Amino acid sequence: MTRRTVHLVFAAVAAVGLLVSARLGAQQANFDAVQVRVLKAQGNIYMLTGAGGNVTVQAGSDGVLVVDTQFAGMSEKLLAAIRTISTGPIRYIIDTHVHGDHVGGNENIRKAGSTIAGGNVSGDIKDAAEGAQIWAHDNVLLRMSDPKLTPAIPTAAWPTSTFTGKDKKLFFNGEGVHLIHEPAAHTDGDSLVYFRRSDVISTGDIFSTVSYPVVDLQNGGTINGVIAGLNHILDLAIPKDKQEGGTYIIPGHGRVCDEADVLEYRDMVTIIRDRVLDLIKKGMTLEQITAAKPTLDYDGRYNATFWTADMFVEAVYRSLNTPGGVSTAR
Ligand SMILES: [Zn+2]
Repeated sequence: MTRRTVHLVFAAVAAVGLLVSARLGAQQANFDAVQVRVLKAQGNIYMLTGAGGNVTVQAGSDGVLVVDTQFAGMSEKLLAAIRTISTGPIRYIIDTHVHGDHVGGNENIRKAGSTIAGGNVSGDIKDAAEGAQIWAHDNVLLRMSDPKLTPAIPTAAWPTSTFTGKDKKLFFNGEGVHLIHEPAAHTDGDSLVYFRRSDVISTGDIFSTVSYPVVDLQNGGTINGVIAGLNHILDLAIPKDKQEGGTYIIPGHGRVCDEADVLEYRDMVTIIRDRVLDLIKKGMTLEQITAAKPTLDYDGRYNATFWTADMFVEAVYRSLNTPGGVSTAR
C-alpha cells in the first residue's frame, strides 16, 4: 500500500538521471555519478547533499550526530564526507521520517559509528558494540517494522530508541537538540530537529525548496498537518532584523533557507489548501478541481516530475475530503 508514494519519492532521484527501483532502501541503485557536497550552515551544523534527502551533521567534541542517511548505496560517500568535517565517533542518527531516501543508510552509518567508537572511546564497550543510536518518533519504527512490508527492512536499520508524545530532548556537543514531533504532516512520524545553540532547524520533508510538499496519505500524512508543521518552524525561527540570516532552516530537499523562505512557502501551501477547500465546498469533484488548476501561479517554481501539481492537488483534496476533513480544515 505504500508502494505508490515510495515510488514517487524515489522518482526524485530518477529525475536526476539515476535508475532507481521503487523498493525501500534502493540498495541496488547506481550512485557512481553522485557527489556528496558539504555546506556549513552555522554553528556546529553542516548540510550534506547527494542522492536522496539532505543530511544534517552536527559535529563537536562529543562526536558526530547525523540527521537522515540518504540511500544505502550512498553510505560510503556520505561517510567520507562526514569524515572531512570530523573524525570523531558517530554517536547519534536521527530519522526525520520513514522514507527510504532519508533512512536507507541507517544500517551502514550506524555500523560505522560502532567501529569508530570502538577505536577511539575507551570504557564504552557496550555502546561501541551496538554502534550509533538511531532516534526517531515511534511511528517510524512501527512503519519500518511492519510485517506486511516486502521486502522487509532489516532490523539493524530500525530506530534503536524512539519517543512518543510531542518531543524528545538530547544534549550533545554542548547544545540542546530538540526532536519535535509534527503529527500527521508529511507522514505520521515526522520530527523537526532543532539545534538550539547553533540555531538551525532540520525539517525533513515537511519543507522542501524543490517541490510542493509531498503529503504521504498512505503513511498518515495530511495537508493540515504539513501547514501546522510549517507554522511551527516559523514559531521557532527568528529572522535577523530586515536581512537574510538568523535561524537557518535545512529542508528535506533543496537549499539552505532562512525564516523568510519558510514564510513564503507556508503562504503558498496555505493559499492552495484554501483554494481546494473552497472548490470542495462548491461541490466540485476531484476532476473538476484539478481542471481548475488551483496551483497554476506557483507551478513554474514547484511543479516537479516526481510530485506534480496534479498529484499535490489530489493529495490535498483527499486529505480534506474525508469525514471531518473539511470542517476541521481552518
Ligand atoms: Zn519523505
